[in-house]
Order: sequence, then structure tokens, then C-alpha cells
Amino acid sequence: RFHTVIDPSLIKTIKQYVLVSRDIVITCHVSPDGDALGSSFALWYVLKALGKSVNVVTADCAPKALLFLPGVRELVAATRQNERAHELIAKADLIFCMDFNDPARVDRLTAPLLSSKARKIVIDHHLEPRIEADVIISRPEVSSTCALLYITLWQAQWARYLNRSSAACIYTGMMTDTGNFSYNSNDPDLYLIIYDLMRKGIDKDNIYKLVMNTSSESRVRIMGYGQYRMQLLSEHRAAIITLSEEELKEFDYSKGDTEGLVNIPLSIPEITYSIFLREDAKDCVKVSMRSKGDFSVSRICEENFDGGGHTNAAGGEFHGPLDKALEKLLEVIPSYDIYL
Ligand code: 5GP
Ligand code: MN
Repeated sequence: RFHTVIDPSLIKTIKQYVLVSRDIVITCHVSPDGDALGSSFALWYVLKALGKSVNVVTADCAPKALLFLPGVRELVAATRQNERAHELIAKADLIFCMDFNDPARVDRLTAPLLSSKARKIVIDHHLEPRIEADVIISRPEVSSTCALLYITLWQAQWARYLNRSSAACIYTGMMTDTGNFSYNSNDPDLYLIIYDLMRKGIDKDNIYKLVMNTSSESRVRIMGYGQYRMQLLSEHRAAIITLSEEELKEFDYSKGDTEGLVNIPLSIPEITYSIFLREDAKDCVKVSMRSKGDFSVSRICEENFDGGGHTNAAGGEFHGPLDKALEKLLEVIPSYDIYL
């Protein structure tokens, strides 16, 4: 039915592992987004329907915009329940790693994840998985982990265990990782999946409204300010937006307020890539990049900001003040002109 096909032997192994496990943990990357939380909670509902004891454990909390997501209030975030998060991981005999390709992406849970003796299953769509696991379903050509999870469940004949709540979780990740089906969204499989999810009773218009079209006052103001302050480096086809710790404070910033800001400069035809530097704390600058076509921002993030991601969406970190991060960026940008 779907043109993405997962090796049936992997599906068989996953089913076997699930059936014999007693304590399952599902985890996803730090600063979890719609795809990470959507895939985690969709799977959580399905495993619960199968009668399993299962918890979603993450390094930090869900962003405000995703608190509507069914199940998300059951999330065990290490920032709030550190001991419980560690206990659950230590006790688990099966761990699902959703939407990340590198153990470092679970931040403060990296050490417990690596030392866990549990079997591990990775379901992910980032390039080049670097997690040691018993089963790895890694398909970078699929636009979201949620879509990949749906196909996995469908092949396992477990899609029947999806209900309206878990279907909404899957739809959320498919929607957020494609900008409401405006990029990476030409795969016909996506629309077959949406058809199935709608038959489960999801209200896709309401999910759009909740995730993409609901903002706080601080978000509306900060998005405008960031765009107003944008700098264009026309000769390098690049756009840069920076927000300092002081500016964030002035705008009463809270986590998630700048979601999507980095994408906006890409709507300028002359701009090939867009960079956003956010000074989350003194000496900690979050780097976000987006690009068009085959210009790879994950290369820039990997080579300079201890990060990575996808060709067109990547991120990393800079340890130092914002002006030093900007200095470094301006220094390296010209060396990527050859890829333009
Ligand atoms: P965002 O800019 O929305 O924070 O992240 C976009 C994408 O970049 C994510 O889906 C993820 O693949 C990647 N990414 C973001 N931050 C990091 C990071 O610190 N390290 C790595 N390896 N990838 C990141
Ligand atoms: Mn994803």
C-alpha cells in the first residue's frame, strides 16, 4: 500500500521484543518538537493498548504549544522528575529512541541511555544514525518520524490500535515536520496516512489551529522584532537574526516563542539560507539554520557548532557570548560560498 516499505524481518523483531518486554521506555530528543513528542505518544498509546507498561521519558519538558497533545501530561521530563526519569531508564528492558540519531541528543539522559542494558529500537529520519541499537529503522527520505512510525505500525498490523488521540499525535508530527505540508511533502504516502488518521476521527483543522496558529503576546512581538532586526548578507545569500539575553528578557520570552522565526527569511528569493542565534544564557547560544535546495546547513552546524540535522534544517550550540558566536559565524560563512 505504501511505497515506503520496512524490511519485514525488522517488523517481526520489533513485535517479538515488545511482546516479551515488561518495562518499556520511549524517549526522544531534547527540546522535543511535534514530531518527537507526536511519535513518542502515538507509540505510547499503542503499547498501552497492547497491555504494556510504558513511559515516555525525555530530558526536558514539552513546549507550551504542544501541551494540548494527547498524553503529554504523562511525560516524565528529567528537568522536573530527574530521579524518576533515571529509574525508569535503568529499569527498562526495551527502549524506543524516536526522532534522533545520536545519543548526545538526549542531553542529560545520554549517560543512562548508554549504560542501559535494555534492548533498543531506533525509529528516525535523520541522516546517519550513530546509536547502537538492536533494531534501527532509519529513513532520512521520509519527512517525519511520525509518518515512518505509522508505516511501521501498519506493517506490524498494529495501526488498528490507534485511536483518535494517538492518531492526532501522528498527524501533529507529520504536519510540523513539513510546515503544514508545504515542504518535504510530495510523497503520496503522506496523504494515504492522513486519510487513515481522519478515519480515526482526528480534527486536522483544529490541530493546525492549536499548533501553528496559537501565539502568546510575547511570541507575536518577538517574531516581529526578530524579522525587523534581520541582517542580510546578500553576497553570501544568507540572512541572520540574533536575539540577545537582554532582548529576550525585554520581550518576556518564554520557550517556544521563536519557533519558526528562522524559516521566515527564506521567503526572500535571493536568500538561500537563514541563521538564527539565540542567547539562551550567558555562554550558551542556540544556533538554528534553514536552507533551500541542496545547500546543506547541517554541514555548517556540524563543522562549527557541534551540531547537525538535515540538509535544510539543522542546529547546534555555541559556548560563549552572542557577539563571539556572531563573529565566528561571519568568519566561516564565506567558506560555504562554493556550495551556493
Ligand atoms: P531547530 O532549529 O528547530 O532547533 O532544529 C532543527 C533540526 O536541527 C532538528 O530537527 C535537529 O535535527 C537539528 N538540531 C537542532 N539542534 C541540534 C543540536 O544541537 N545538535 C544536533 N546534532 N542537531 C540539532
Ligand atoms: Mn522529526
